[in-house]
Amino acid sequence: MTYRAEYIWIDGSEPTREVRSKTKILADGEEPGVWGYDGSSTNQATGDNSDVVLQPGFSCPDPIRGGDNILVMCETMLTDMTPHPTNTRAQAREAEEKYGDQEAWFGLEQEYTLIDPSTGWPAGFPPNGFPAPQGPYYCGVGALKIHGREMVEEHTDLCIAAGLKISGTNAEVMPGQWEFQIGPAGTVEVGDHMWLARYLLYRMGEKYNVEVSIEAKPMKGDWNGAGMHTNFSTKAMREAYEPCVAAAEALGAPGMPEAHLAVYGDGIEDRLTGAHETQRYDQYSYGVSDRGASVRIPWQVARDGKGYIEDRRPNANADPYAVAAIMTSTIGAALA
Ligand code: ADP
Ligand code: MN
Ligand code: MN
Ligand code: MN
Repeated sequence: MTYRAEYIWIDGSEPTREVRSKTKILADGEEPGVWGYDGSSTNQATGDNSDVVLQPGFSCPDPIRGGDNILVMCETMLTDMTPHPTNTRAQAREAEEKYGDQEAWFGLEQEYTLIDPSTGWPAGFPPNGFPAPQGPYYCGVGALKIHGREMVEEHTDLCIAAGLKISGTNAEVMPGQWEFQIGPAGTVEVGDHMWLARYLLYRMGEKYNVEVSIEAKPMKGDWNGAGMHTNFSTKAMREAYEPCVAAAEALGAPGMPEAHLAVYGDGIEDRLTGAHETQRYDQYSYGVSDRGASVRIPWQVARDGKGYIEDRRPNANADPYAVAAIMTSTIGAALA
């Protein structure tokens, strides 16, 4: 008997990394070991030195194939077995090794847009015009407001069956736009679970013939962009309020907003305009309940005097490994 391991990795596509995968057929009882691929076809190598190595990092049941089949999230390595320059999971590992005693938790809110391939427009946008303005769609119910729920429900079932830490879903502000959340999970874990959840979402897009876009601002004009709000806490923040404020201050320290925005995804200036529940990309602010701030302290956190903060800046197209790595390091150093 055999089983199948789907090896999944992150490529070198610019400006936004994409997920890739291929299938290995294994004998029963055989471990999914080191493998490789042609990096010249993924923007990670030149043709004359094309081998990139796949090092299994995290695996879980494959909920699409079922049975004994598995998904294997891999790190990309050079042939000397050092991390490939595009391997951001290695950065998350290093941050977790350095600040692991602070027990960082993440909750990532992945927004995305379902694109109708026949029009190239978001699901629910008529072919020659626009739907009614934003207002009724967020968390809405009903055929005129909601597009794609069947696929969203199946994606949620798959994430649960795979054992991923999905914590909720909702319809978003723009028609055809949705969100799911992963967390709370650790610095490396949240990236593993998010990339696999994205992989499963793209697979559902194939099945339902819908293109899944994580573009930050798929529709110009008066339509919300798509973010990956990053909720963050350390053990100290979960126990007291002062470290929550210190964490929000640390993200605004000189040089930090620029360093963070550099890994918060392509098109950040288009999304962080100051409108549509965002702060401008060139300003940093934080506040209780403030959805127009860069960083929000939820009202329950202010009331309870402990909890977490929400960095609202990361784009939907950000790399969760890179975001988790820099958050763990910046706040870890400030709270050390
Ligand atoms: P919003 O009100 O901004 O839409 P969501 O409910 O979509 O918030 O997402 C909040 C996320 O924060 C969830 O994924 C949740 O698991 C996560 N979360 C809750 N508590 C913590 C915590 N202490 N540290 C980090 N993340 C947390
Ligand atoms: Mn949310
Ligand atoms: Mn949202
Ligand atoms: Mn949020």
